[in-house]
Amino acid sequence: MQNQLFIDGQFVPALEGGEIDVVNPASGELITRIAAAKAEDVDRAVAAAKRAFPAWAAMPGAERGRLLLKLADRIEACTDELARLESLDTGHPLRDSRILDVPRTAACFRYFGGIADKIEGKVIPVDAGFLNYVQRKPIGVVGQIVPWNFPLMFTSWKMGPALAAGNTVVLKPSELTPLSTLRIAELMKEVGFPNGVVNIVPGYGHTAGQRLAEHPDVGKIAFTGSTATGRRIVEASQGNLKRVQLELGGKGANIVFEDANLEAAVNGAAWAIFHNQGQACIAGSRLLLQESIADEFLERFVSLARSIRLGDPLDGTTEMGPLTSALHRDRVLSFVDIARQQGGRILTGGKAPSDPSLASGFYVEPTIVEASPGDRVAQEEVFGPFVTVLRFKTEEEALAIANGTDYGLGSGLWTRDLQRAHRLAAQISAGMCWINCYKRVSPGSPFGGLGQSGYGREMGFDAIHDYTEARSVWVNVDAKILPHYPR
Ligand code: NDP
Repeated sequence: MQNQLFIDGQFVPALEGGEIDVVNPASGELITRIAAAKAEDVDRAVAAAKRAFPAWAAMPGAERGRLLLKLADRIEACTDELARLESLDTGHPLRDSRILDVPRTAACFRYFGGIADKIEGKVIPVDAGFLNYVQRKPIGVVGQIVPWNFPLMFTSWKMGPALAAGNTVVLKPSELTPLSTLRIAELMKEVGFPNGVVNIVPGYGHTAGQRLAEHPDVGKIAFTGSTATGRRIVEASQGNLKRVQLELGGKGANIVFEDANLEAAVNGAAWAIFHNQGQACIAGSRLLLQESIADEFLERFVSLARSIRLGDPLDGTTEMGPLTSALHRDRVLSFVDIARQQGGRILTGGKAPSDPSLASGFYVEPTIVEASPGDRVAQEEVFGPFVTVLRFKTEEEALAIANGTDYGLGSGLWTRDLQRAHRLAAQISAGMCWINCYKRVSPGSPFGGLGQSGYGREMGFDAIHDYTEARSVWVNVDAKILPHYPR
């Protein structure tokens, strides 16, 4: 298991020698200690990325793409090992790591491997006698800060487009969950990525993350995490006016109308909030139910939630694992008290499970709370297996509640009415809307938010756009002498 920093193609200790404990969230036991990057280590990593940039940017796109495709193949070949590592470090149930996290990571690198030689410019119609063409050029060294909820997958979402477009990378994984990203670095070395093209600096946010965000030689910083830290990133970026991309929190509205297929909606709503223990920015954490079906829906939904199998993430039958850290578990549980204080009704859950075999892990039962739209649990991101139920009577009321937070990331609609589905999808303030499904993602489909959920897009050609600059070139085709100063 790799536990050092990855700088300029080598695994190295941190200059000051600091280390951070990496803990198994299912047991609270130590897995390993990792080197903790500080500002000087980030400086070394940025210097390596800066040296590697000219050759990487000049490499034909097809060759960069070939390396990404080779990496995707290696990831697939290591599916079992990577899935176990991710489950051990994060608490994701193995069934999800195997069929979602690892395949999606490979698919993302493969998609961007395919794009690397298809980044086209354009020709703009301008005045007669002139040619104007626009090329898309890489930005340079990009800094990327990845959180602990989907460390493996987000590594590919961040690195894939950046590398395909010809940038070099310094990536800071969360100090809580660095292991799968460090394994990816080993695989990159193995398949032949040149030294310095990718550098991995696990460390604390306020030291390593902060330095990366303020570094004068970093041309862009891409961040996934909380809105509060996103604001700090923007402040830190000001010194060299680097480009910023933010994928922040969410409070996804998942709306069920009375004409929905209830069986599908109950199942989809459970997946929307309980997958990955609700630790997802796109989680369907506000469940809006039309009054006429609310009671029947809740009866089925509560029964399904109570039947979800909590357990050891490495047991293939487990459907929900622990939260990723003890601190976060406590934060999630604090929202149960907040809900009660504001008059919310706890319909199920709201505590750690009583099973003694789970007592040392950071588990929380699937929790369903009925509340009002203005309550804190209907406005703030809980980021746990905690869904807030809100009732509505009309489509207009549903839309007003859905759009009644500062966030705008994921959203869902369950209805058989085609017109209503498209009408609302266009009116909900969210970067993504899922109709009769939830949490679908694909490397080709843009992903990102509005409002306090951030800006910029991951995935697809939108991501390539966000990792390149437009360069406009003018040619005087007719070689006219322009009469600016006739003599
Ligand atoms: P943070 O936003 O603080 O952490 C996310 C990442 O940012 C981590 O790698 C963190 O490092 C790093 N970071 C922290 N401070 C700085 C800084 N000053 N400069 C640069 N990087 C920094 O989120 P938390 O982990 O504290 O979680 C709090 C809440 O944030 C969650 O409850 C959830 O609501 C939201 N969140 C949203 C995510 C999403 O997918 N959009 C992902 C994670 C959290 P370190 O771990 O060392 O602090």
